[in-house]
Amino acid sequence: MNILILGGGGREHSLAWAVKQNPKCDRLIVAPGNAGIAQIAECAALNIEDGDVVAGFCADNAVDFVIIGPEAPLAAGVADVLRSNGLVVFGCSQAAAQLESSKSFTKAICDACDAPTARYGHFTDAKAAHDYVTAQGAPIVIKADGLAAGKGVVVAMDIDTAHTAVDDMLGGQFGDAGAEVLIEDFMDGEEASFFVLCDGTTVLPVGTAQDHKRAFDGDNGPNTGGMGAYSPAPVLTEDIVTIALRDIVEPTVAEMAKRGTPFQGILYAGLMIKDGLPRLVEYNVRFGDPECQVLMMRLGGQILDLLHACAENRLSDVTPNWADDHAMTVVMAAKGYPGAYEKGSQINNLIALSETSSEMTFHAGTATKDGQIVATGGRVLNVTARGATLKDAHAKVYAMVHHIDWPDGFYRTDIGYRAL
Ligand code: ATP
Repeated sequence: MNILILGGGGREHSLAWAVKQNPKCDRLIVAPGNAGIAQIAECAALNIEDGDVVAGFCADNAVDFVIIGPEAPLAAGVADVLRSNGLVVFGCSQAAAQLESSKSFTKAICDACDAPTARYGHFTDAKAAHDYVTAQGAPIVIKADGLAAGKGVVVAMDIDTAHTAVDDMLGGQFGDAGAEVLIEDFMDGEEASFFVLCDGTTVLPVGTAQDHKRAFDGDNGPNTGGMGAYSPAPVLTEDIVTIALRDIVEPTVAEMAKRGTPFQGILYAGLMIKDGLPRLVEYNVRFGDPECQVLMMRLGGQILDLLHACAENRLSDVTPNWADDHAMTVVMAAKGYPGAYEKGSQINNLIALSETSSEMTFHAGTATKDGQIVATGGRVLNVTARGATLKDAHAKVYAMVHHIDWPDGFYRTDIGYRAL
């Protein structure tokens, strides 16, 4: 099978690494890829948000199967264009991508199928929004409706912060994405991520994970795209997963099918768990980054069979084969991230690290310069390992991290502390 993966972060490196382990993978191309991906696959410079460009590339390169990594091409309708060109595609339609690209869409789906989530109001008018905030009081959560790269949410612990957030968002801080705001009740509890594949009708759980969003140890500092993750998430017990499937995920999938916009791809439910009950925080329509890295570490080459079955509407024929293991990833980021950071610093000792089916350094923001690996992004490396226990995975992963010589980088030293 000739396979094209769209994307160029740590998520796509881990997808490529896992897919490549499957003997059915003949040729593997990643667009645009990165310096780490280039070590295991061909990389192609393509505008991955333009469906016609991607379809043309697939025709020229006899691509049999396309796996879409990030949300932007999904929200841009690339999966629809590729499918209309007869390609087999893993990734949801533009209509289904609204589960991530519009928070008010997701709330309307939850209302229609009675899925438990925070009570909310949605507003385009500033006065009505301020009145609602005043009436509800703090803590309260203000969200830009559209995609704002994870920055469009303010969890306001006091009322002034909430009013300021309303003004900022409706005042154009996030452009069109903030033209409508959602104001939600604050949900208390522990957060975890639950991943299911869905082919429109069948739902197949493919794991749980927890990540650390704050930049610094002890969950302090600014929010980031994620500084580390581990799988499985102990808080998502079998009972809670059963409830989340029955009350949240399956009703959502049924509602999407009923509306004529079936969901086909990976549905990532961000859940808040309190007193043994899950509530939906958000949906994403792609694998999380860095949660994907720990899932791929645990699933390995079988992921190709699972994603391909999903894309061909035959998920009911496959079952993931889970080892009773644990995986952890630690993100190494450029000093200054998530604020301003320097690009181009050199990373040493990477090639001395072992790369096996249970230890791997995925690249998120790197390039090769004069034969050296240099940092080109905020989040740069995802050092990942698998072990019989989370403690084993933790020991392996931090041994790898300590081996890497990158004076301009930093990382959290406490990934997984809650579970450990
Ligand atoms: P991302 O995709 O980066 O996770 P997002 O912009 O899609 O973020 P959400 O996931 O909806 O936004 O919210 C971001 C974070 O804010 C959540 O992970 C959660 O920690 C917190 N949060 C969101 N809604 C609530 C809520 N109602 N109560 C408490 N915390 C919340």
